[in-house]
Amino acid sequence: MYFNWKDKTNIDELKVICNLIKNSEIIIFPTETVYGIGANAFDSAAVGKIFLAKGRQSDNPLIVHLSDKSKIEEVAEDVTEVEQKLIDAFMPGPFTIILKKKPVIPDIVTAGLDTVAIRIPSNIIARGIITYAGVPIAAPSANISGKPSGTNIEDIRKELEGRVSAIIDGGKTEIGLESTVVRVIDGVPVILRPGKITPEEIRAVVGTVRIDDKAFKRLNDDETPLSPGMKYRHYAPTTKCKLVYADNEAEQVFQMKKLVKEYKGNVVVLGFDEHEEKIVVSQGRYIRIGSKENLEEIAQNIYTALRKADTIKADIILIEGIKKYGIGVAIMNRLLRTCEYDYIEVLDCD
Ligand code: AMP
Ligand code: MG
Repeated sequence: MYFNWKDKTNIDELKVICNLIKNSEIIIFPTETVYGIGANAFDSAAVGKIFLAKGRQSDNPLIVHLSDKSKIEEVAEDVTEVEQKLIDAFMPGPFTIILKKKPVIPDIVTAGLDTVAIRIPSNIIARGIITYAGVPIAAPSANISGKPSGTNIEDIRKELEGRVSAIIDGGKTEIGLESTVVRVIDGVPVILRPGKITPEEIRAVVGTVRIDDKAFKRLNDDETPLSPGMKYRHYAPTTKCKLVYADNEAEQVFQMKKLVKEYKGNVVVLGFDEHEEKIVVSQGRYIRIGSKENLEEIAQNIYTALRKADTIKADIILIEGIKKYGIGVAIMNRLLRTCEYDYIEVLDCD
């Protein structure tokens, strides 16, 4: 079933969706970050279908989505003062907090961990579904595991139609990157996965913040990250990718052009709007990711651009990197993993 709620939620169709959820079915719905594949979080059989539809590893836990803050105590306990400050500051919104779980959440949701990831989406379609379904919704991103997350309905239909009972079209997602995942450890908020809510914003609320260093490096097989999902290949097209960043713009263009030449033009470039005339490739091989001045726009476009790049036959996808600041931290975290850490970085010494 396909429902178009781009302009308005259809109440009759909302009833159909809630019935599907009650009947252990799984659905795709929009949130402000990326689309999710959702099921009743209390229903192990339904949650099992999500893992199957995505081909997701069973040791990678899901985020539980709630309709409002008053529901947190139904699924989590022992919330500390710092955790409460973060909840009050950033929820609803693109922010996920790891809390001590109550037994009511089945093990399949949390991959057997004693913690549960909680998010309250601000998107009205998402909140409408969670509210009317009357149960928390466990939902990972809408994509086959390892692929870029689904941020527009055409990509999602191509990849997942037939694997879920219903798809709700809410238009292109507003943010385009997954939520910031935070766990408070010894009173310090630790960012396990960077996202739209930046380290600077978190520090402004509780005075301190740390980014898990595993977010930016390749993990050895024996390393266990605090966020199990971080160990898997992710956000990746089939064609291999290389990321290029220089803090001097002319140098970045130079490095990109050098690579285009090295690969004899058999490349796809994911580049800034401003560089299309500078990094010359044959027609259709330059995919604009947005203005270099507008990181929000780049975040919104990046996954669709990666999917588009993958439809063009090439030896490599060359991607322009950005400064790791603000939402740039999250974009670079995803792109490093897209490229499996194949990264050229040129930093000015002075
Ligand atoms: P996704 O919904 O696919 O964007 O992924 C959810 C992310 O949250 C993954 O990286 C998970 O590993 C992470 N996550 C979910 N539950 C927990 C938890 N209890 N502790 C730590 N990380 C979690
Ligand atoms: Mg995901």
